[in-house]
Amino acid sequence: ESKRLNEATGASQEMYQRARKSLSAGVASSYQLRDPWPIYLERGQGPKVWDVDGNEMWDFHNGFGSMLQGHAHPAIGRAVRERYEQGTHFAAPTEDAVVVAENLSARWGLPRWRYTNSGSESTMDAIRIARAYTGRDTVMKIFGSYHGHHDTVMVSIGVEYDKIGDHENLASLPYGAGIPDATVQMTVAVPFNDAGAMERRIIALDKEGRKPACVIMEPAMMNLGVVLPEPGYLEEVREITRRHGVVLIFDEVKTGLCIGPGGATRRFGVMPDMVTLAKALGGGLPSGAIGGTEEVMSVVEDGSVYQVGTYNGNPLVVAAIRANLEEVLTDEAHAHLDYLNDRILAGCRRVIEDYSLPGYAVGLGGKGCVTFSPTKVIDYETFKANQSAELSDLAWLFNMNRGIFMTPGREEEWTLSVTHTDEAIDAYVDCFEEFAQAITS
Ligand code: PMP
Repeated sequence: ESKRLNEATGASQEMYQRARKSLSAGVASSYQLRDPWPIYLERGQGPKVWDVDGNEMWDFHNGFGSMLQGHAHPAIGRAVRERYEQGTHFAAPTEDAVVVAENLSARWGLPRWRYTNSGSESTMDAIRIARAYTGRDTVMKIFGSYHGHHDTVMVSIGVEYDKIGDHENLASLPYGAGIPDATVQMTVAVPFNDAGAMERRIIALDKEGRKPACVIMEPAMMNLGVVLPEPGYLEEVREITRRHGVVLIFDEVKTGLCIGPGGATRRFGVMPDMVTLAKALGGGLPSGAIGGTEEVMSVVEDGSVYQVGTYNGNPLVVAAIRANLEEVLTDEAHAHLDYLNDRILAGCRRVIEDYSLPGYAVGLGGKGCVTFSPTKVIDYETFKANQSAELSDLAWLFNMNRGIFMTPGREEEWTLSVTHTDEAIDAYVDCFEEFAQAITS
C-alpha cells in the first residue's frame, strides 16, 4: 500500500523536495508532516479535494474539522467578496462582530464573547481570564488532550505509555522542546472519565497552596479518535469545579459547531463557565472565539485582563462566520450531518461485525472514527494500551489509495461536511469493507 501511494504522488514528492529548501521540513505546520513526504493539495470543491498529482479524493479530513461547510461554499464566498469590497480590516468593531456574538450567545447560552484568530489563541486567552478571575496560577487539564500550541497547554499530551505512571498522580510532561520547566509544573493533568481522580487532585493541590484556576477540557475527547464522556461524568465535573470554585472551560475548538448547533455544551446539557471555539466557526478562515459568563468575563470588561489582537474580529472573518452561522450551519444542516454520521457509523459497524474486526465505530454530529481497539477506550491510558497503531496506519494508506482523504495521524477522526452525500458515505464504507477483507483473508 505504501508503494502504491508513493507511485501515485510523484508530483507531491517533487514539491516536497523543492519545499524543503525554503519551508522548514517542507510544510507550513508540523502537523502537516508525513513520511516519506506530505501530500500537497491543489483545490477543493464541496466534499472533494484534488492533490497536485490530480488525484481526486472524498474529503473526510476537512481541514482538521474546519471545513464543515465543504469547500468553496457559495454563501461564504459571497460574504467574503462583499465584505472585501467594503474594506478588509480596520481594527475597529463592525456590526457583524455584534451579530455573531448575539448568535453565539443564543447557541451556547453564555452571554459574553470575544474573538481570536485560532484555537490556540482562544485557549490561551481563556486560561488567562480564568487565572485573573480566580487569582490563581495552576491549570488543570486532561491527560492526553490537545488544546493548542502555547506553553501552558503543551503539557501531558502525547507521551509514551510507560511514562504515564501512577493513574491518580500523573506527572506533568512537556510536549516537545522549548517549554520552560516552570511552566510545565504549573499545569497538572488528570485522566478523562474519572471525576473522583479530578476531585482528589484538586484537594491535594489546594493543600499544597496551589489550587487550580481552571479545568480546561474537551467535553468529548477528539484527539484519541473520539472518546465520549461516560454517563454522568460531565455533570460530576461541573459539580466538582463549582464546589471548589474552579473555572470550567469547555474547549470546543473541535466539538464546537461540528457536533451540533450549540456544540457539546448543548448536546450534553452541561453548562461550563467558559467555552473556546475555532476551526469550523470561520467557514475556512482563521478564526476563534471565547464565550463566558458575566462573572468570569468581568475581568475583561473592567480592563484588568487585556484580551487583545490586531486581527480580532477582522471584518472579513466575522462576515464569513456570520454567513456560516446564518446560511450554512442551519438546524437542517445539522440534521443532515447527524443523518450522514448515522449512516457511516452503521456501515462501519456492519463491516466490523461481518469481519470480526478488533475495533468499534464511534461518533457524534459530523465527527467519528473507527477505533482499532478490542476494548473501549475511555482515556489516554486505555488508548495507548489497546489501540492498534499498525491497523490505524494501514487503514489510512488504504483510504488514501482509494480516494478517501483522511487526517494523517492515528489519533484523528473523520469530519463530514454539509456537502457530503450518501455517495461519499458509501465510498468510505466500501473502502473500509475492502480493508476488512484484505486484513482478514
Ligand atoms: N483545542 C483543541 C481541542 C484542538 O483540537 C486544537 C487544534 N487541533 C486547538 C485547541 C488549537 O487550535 P489551532 O490549531 O487553531 O490553534
